[in-house]
Amino acid sequence: MLLHELLFENVTGNFEINSSIKESRKIILNVHCTQFKNTCPDCNVHSTRLHSYYVRRVKDLPILGYSIVLTLRVGKFYCKNSKCSRKVFSQRFPVHFPPYKRNTIRLDDKLLKIALLMGGNPGKKLCDTLNIETSSSSLIRMPSTKYILLSCSKTRKNYFLKR
Ligand SMILES: [Zn+2]
Repeated sequence: MLLHELLFENVTGNFEINSSIKESRKIILNVHCTQFKNTCPDCNVHSTRLHSYYVRRVKDLPILGYSIVLTLRVGKFYCKNSKCSRKVFSQRFPVHFPPYKRNTIRLDDKLLKIALLMGGNPGKKLCDTLNIETSSSSLIRMPSTKYILLSCSKTRKNYFLKR
């Protein structure tokens, strides 16, 4: 119950943890959403007509040294609007699980801070210690609305430019 509250605090929609699997240094939590109110992202028309389900794997912050992977069962729905160009759309959870992202927002926030403070290779070493799966190039490519991180391979220094 505490884990559920920690994972889904401030998250819109109702999520349930169905099961969990512990691997060597990883915990996989199988999650599904019980919310069936969905609006098409193109036309904002509400739909409850289910097309199918698919599974999204989203990495979250580690707990007690274990990396956390959420497998989220996501519904696909038919758009009821005949004038809409989109026929099928997926459930969206923008507060916690942004579309097309493989990390939760809170994990990306931490990775961005690590990237800004340490840069690519040192940040990767810290992430390895914390059991956060990433690469140095992913850290350098972290999207930032405030800063651009430039790494100089010659001097091995990082520079932050304000946008
Ligand atoms: Zn639509």
